[in-house]
Amino acid sequence: MNEALERLKLDALLVTHAVNVRYLCGFTGSNAALLASPRRTMLFTDGRYTEQANAEAQHVRVTISRGALLPEAVKAIQRHRIASTGIEAEHMSAAARVGFKRLLPKRARLRDTFAVVEHLRQIKEPAEITALRESVIAGARLFDTALEAIRPGVREIGVAAEMEYSARRAGAEGMSFDTIVAAGRRSALPHGRASSAPIPARGFVVLDWGVKLSGYCSDETRTVHVGTPDAETRGQYNAVRESQQAAVEAIRPGATAGDVDRAARNALQRTGFARYFTHSTGHGVGLEIHESPRVAQNQPDPLRPGMVITVEPGVYIPNRGGVRIEDMVVVTATGCEVLTPTSKQLITL
Ligand code: ZN
Ligand code: ZN
Repeated sequence: MNEALERLKLDALLVTHAVNVRYLCGFTGSNAALLASPRRTMLFTDGRYTEQANAEAQHVRVTISRGALLPEAVKAIQRHRIASTGIEAEHMSAAARVGFKRLLPKRARLRDTFAVVEHLRQIKEPAEITALRESVIAGARLFDTALEAIRPGVREIGVAAEMEYSARRAGAEGMSFDTIVAAGRRSALPHGRASSAPIPARGFVVLDWGVKLSGYCSDETRTVHVGTPDAETRGQYNAVRESQQAAVEAIRPGATAGDVDRAARNALQRTGFARYFTHSTGHGVGLEIHESPRVAQNQPDPLRPGMVITVEPGVYIPNRGGVRIEDMVVVTATGCEVLTPTSKQLITL
């Protein structure tokens, strides 16, 4: 953090995005602001969180505010004669920014910053990788629940409900996002949320889900087939599986996120399905479900050890059906490791 402040020529950064506050000091309360400077880091929260802040927050001075948090931060800026303060421009409303600027003393400077903490969060510490690994394992168990629940006539939302209930019973804090169950023709909608539509007698079912454990998100997609698939259907599935494998094989330190995306697309080009792959190949994942780096076309960011990304190509044929396969992968010193343990064989139910 101090390096980042130095690079930006800032004396302090006011962190208002709750996930970033958690990352920097461990405090998980929902109302918090953190003023980070090389000399001291101060956490501001309200009276509901007194005990929690003292128990969770590490290496910070805790101030319990009776009212809004930003005026407290301004007091600290004045008291410690902080000349230039950065704000998280992407996480502060225009109204809050105006109010904050009005409170600041005239000589104090305010600067917009972008993704400072998000940039630090790209590289996961070993403890974070452990947490992600546990989240992935807990998430993967829900696939068995889904396989038991899926049969013709059962509503998509019913399958999602079984998965989410199992997740909670297994100790998950919640789902990483609303579970996607998209069956039959609906499987061709890349982000078809679970609907009340019944699962048809024949066709693909795309399942995309994840759990939150110790704050860390898992994200996995598997596609199964109800009824016996014909040759064309098998071809579509195998094309996605090969594309996903090719992308995973492209992951190593120094390769760019764009290289990984290209590997997925090139594989689909060879099998003739590339035009049905309509989204990016993946994304970083950690405390939030979508983090940087983006694994998309022409992304120049080099991959670095400790990054955790998803690899999730898909082929969506309108009025027919879609297939997507998604794993979470950690970039290692020499290549990568796939965290998701679930088989990628085509399962027929
Ligand atoms: Zn997903
Ligand atoms: Zn994903």
